[in-house]
Amino acid sequence: MTNLTFHGLGEPPRALDGGEAGTWVDAKRFEALLDAVAGRDDVRITFDDGNASDVAIGLPALAARGLTATFFVVAGRLGREHFLSAAQVRELRDAGMRIGNHGMRHRAWRGLDAAALDEELRVARRMLEDVVGAPVDEAACPFGAYDRRVVGALRRGGYRRVFTSDRGTAGDAAWLQARNTMTPADGPETLTAIGARSSPAARAAGRARLAVKRWR
Ligand SMILES: [Zn+2]
Repeated sequence: MTNLTFHGLGEPPRALDGGEAGTWVDAKRFEALLDAVAGRDDVRITFDDGNASDVAIGLPALAARGLTATFFVVAGRLGREHFLSAAQVRELRDAGMRIGNHGMRHRAWRGLDAAALDEELRVARRMLEDVVGAPVDEAACPFGAYDRRVVGALRRGGYRRVFTSDRGTAGDAAWLQARNTMTPADGPETLTAIGARSSPAARAAGRARLAVKRWR
């Protein structure tokens, strides 16, 4: 399974944070990527951060191609300018999209104390469940940051699947799903490149890296 991560689409409507600038993809490029994904059941599309462009640009382009995606929403940003409102999250749900938790305040989950981690993993999830009126059982780690403690808390919390940003491919049924962040430089050829990086040797090296990361 190849998991793709999108953040903002189109022209950014606000000043972007440091690393965020490299993750906004213009609408044309986004649509070209979707065209390459259409008809492939080995590619999963995800969106992080709950930008308003999820609904303005992402949703119509997905719907036009019969594609679905999982949208990882930051609960504490709901209704803020340039981000999704609760009604827009429900619009995504009604269109057959899945909603996942991307935490409360968009901070790295690694290194948080117990109370802060609880707010990110449990309270934010509860808020999102109230919005969609259904269980939210998938999460995506902000900044792709996690460690053994975060993994333990997510497992105890009963999350069905957790998405990282570790690149490469992931087993379809794996609990921890590596994703590939799409940048303005990515296009349909990126899908081929990810597959090539996922040769048996590359996968073994990746697993060794992950094992270290998970236990850090
Ligand atoms: Zn994020």
